Amino acid sequence: MAVLVNFKICDNAKECGGIEVCPTGALSWDEENETIKIDNDKCISCGACERMCPIGAIRVAHSEEEYEKLKQDIENDSRTTKDLFVDRYGAAPLSEFFMINPEELMNKTNEGITLVECYEDDSIQCLLKSIPIKEITLDMPKDTMFYKVELEEKAKEKYNVSELPSLLIFNNKKYVGKVDGYYNIEQKEEFIEKINKILE
Ligand code: SF4
Repeated sequence: MAVLVNFKICDNAKECGGIEVCPTGALSWDEENETIKIDNDKCISCGACERMCPIGAIRVAHSEEEYEKLKQDIENDSRTTKDLFVDRYGAAPLSEFFMINPEELMNKTNEGITLVECYEDDSIQCLLKSIPIKEITLDMPKDTMFYKVELEEKAKEKYNVSELPSLLIFNNKKYVGKVDGYYNIEQKEEFIEKINKILE
């Protein structure tokens, strides 16, 4: 039948998981226009793409009626990609404000706790699927700072980062430790426990 993409909240990336799993090519990447392309003549409404999208931007209709309803839902959706990131992370990783250079790391740390999420382009999908920073900082002091940094080789060596994404932890302007690797929402307690142990 048909697939719909809510481009208001979709990050419209070539790496879209929906494109990856679509068995018919109904979802593809349009190189020329740099956008996700939909060909509903090919869509069989299997739902694979919908299940794959971590933010619910892909919707699949099984009837004309459902298609119109979903189209209307998208039209009425007042969220934006930026809102969604703010909602998930409690910060705006797309906003320049939260992005810092590796050289700025130490200057940006404050008297309290500072968390710096390190990533590289290849691990950007993990940022989408990993635990929202909001969940992590919920029980932390209110002045906890949060930044994101695209880590270069030199900085990776400096902080001995073996796996990205990695969360560097600073306390009172001092680097105190890190948690490497991707943690999903089911591993939240384990992740928070590791952070608290480092902060002890
Ligand atoms: S519902 Fe199935 S066929 Fe249609 S776009 Fe999604 S993955 Fe492709």
